[in-house]
Amino acid sequence: MKPQKFIAKCIDCGHEGPFSPLSPTCPKCGSEWQIARYDYEAIKCTLPQALPNRPFDLWRYHELLPVHGGRPEISMGEGGTPMLHLVKLGMMLNLPYLYFKDERQNPASSFKDRQAGVTIAALKEAGITEMVVASTGNVAISYAAYSARAGIKLWAFLTSLVPSEKMREVAIYGAKVIKVTGTYDQTKQVAAEFARQRGLYLDKGARSLPTVESMKTLAYETSEQLTGILGKPQGAMWQSPTWFVQAVSGALGPLGVYKGYEEMLEMGFVSKIPKMALIQAAGCAPMAHAWKQNKLTAEPVRLPRTHITTLATGDPGRVYTLLAERMRKHGGTFDAVTDEEAFRAMHLLAKMEGLSVEPATAVAIAGVIKLARAGILKPDDVIVINGTGHTMPIESHILGDRWAENVVLPTKVAAERNIPSDGLSAALKTLQVREKPHIAIVDDHEPARILLRRVLQSLGEFTISEAANGKEAIELARREHPDLILLDLMMPDADGFQVIESLRSDPSTANIPIIAVTAKTLTPEEKKRLHGQIAKVMQKGEFLTDDLVDEIRALIG
Ligand SMILES: *Cc1c(COP(=O)(O)O)cnc(C)c1O
Ligand SMILES: [Zn+2]
Repeated sequence: MKPQKFIAKCIDCGHEGPFSPLSPTCPKCGSEWQIARYDYEAIKCTLPQALPNRPFDLWRYHELLPVHGGRPEISMGEGGTPMLHLVKLGMMLNLPYLYFKDERQNPASSFKDRQAGVTIAALKEAGITEMVVASTGNVAISYAAYSARAGIKLWAFLTSLVPSEKMREVAIYGAKVIKVTGTYDQTKQVAAEFARQRGLYLDKGARSLPTVESMKTLAYETSEQLTGILGKPQGAMWQSPTWFVQAVSGALGPLGVYKGYEEMLEMGFVSKIPKMALIQAAGCAPMAHAWKQNKLTAEPVRLPRTHITTLATGDPGRVYTLLAERMRKHGGTFDAVTDEEAFRAMHLLAKMEGLSVEPATAVAIAGVIKLARAGILKPDDVIVINGTGHTMPIESHILGDRWAENVVLPTKVAAERNIPSDGLSAALKTLQVREKPHIAIVDDHEPARILLRRVLQSLGEFTISEAANGKEAIELARREHPDLILLDLMMPDADGFQVIESLRSDPSTANIPIIAVTAKTLTPEEKKRLHGQIAKVMQKGEFLTDDLVDEIRALIG
């Protein structure tokens, strides 16, 4: 027998022994909950020196993964995803340290590739050639891809609510797709019975040691990357974020992340464990409900009422208890957002940051917005959002039906290779839309101008001019007479108050509506100065795209 690289420790009776995916329960008490323990004393000395020379994917931590051979042949470079700074969203929420761990950039477009890469490699080592999994979509896609590489036959049980685009993705890899008309929890039962009858290996999600181990790599990468961005912290080798935010279904991700941080703390790599903000879809939020009631067990939701199928785990079982115990100790919260809030957040992230995510990931973004507004996330906090995954293609209900304009060429013109210019310009005329309102953006801070410009660009047809100080703003208003001015109040030289007074005293600019945008809370004296002069004051860090657009529409229709 090979020397054991790690041992399995039972979390119920403490028994320690070798681990095999073929007999995954504790030999002493029968518990299904075992965690991996490695030679931390040795690894804490050797790993820091080894890391700089290794590729940036999750196998750079192979000493700490339950696969004996190290980097496996089936690897497709899973993990090692970029850490992106969300500048505009951060400005809107007054959260300057807001980061997005871009898990869309995994081989099959979600963070489930970590789970599949590590688990399938461990199963292949154990000689497994056929297996069963139940899934809300993404696990099946990732397992299908990796089992194709490993030569494992996969039976994927999916609830019939999973979008058909995802089911077809599973099928293209040659997995057997079984659609179950029922909830995800029922689908799991059907899959388990099928596996039992045929004597096949069944994936047990969070109760499987390799899956929890796979997700801890998110914690290691996050801390390594934050250290690169923010510098080495005092008293530790790596940074921990203040918050780790994720949209959760069965919550395997955060369970793994905790495992990672507990190990890093034990080895002295970090000095603290982050708080967790775990967000559910309101129509299926058993963990958020239990947390609000201060309970350590969650009441299952029998009939999930959400369109976001990825997050439709009704019964989180013991995972909730394991997380809630840690969150009581290290801080954090569970919360829930509506489908509607998630879809709006999905548009916001795509339009402001250029990141298209699936609705489940947008649940985390909507959660950040909610927690920022509640004052739970604070401006000094370093916040890492698990950008869990990407759906391709975008489901049609997300966009509605007015998402494109048509240019129809006359048939005769289209048939000829060489399009005569008059036919082309006649066709393009249909694009010369309505009168475009003219909006002037006045702000001395360039990122703030870019943010406002982007809000306007993404939401309608406007002519946009910009001024970087009060003097330019007054000149611009006299010259161009915009339909509306978005005016920063705090600028060096002529500030917003002076601009307003100057414009109001000139009959040619006296009636231009103004929305004031300000970073500071106004004094009663300042409020008096503005009274009757402007349409609205918007506080920086406290408004989102939609709020601003509502104001603009009300003023210039
Ligand atoms: C699986 C998944 C989640 C939920 O993750 P858990 O940790 O299993 O709760 C969120 N978003 C996406 C895109 C997922 O695939
Ligand atoms: Zn035991």
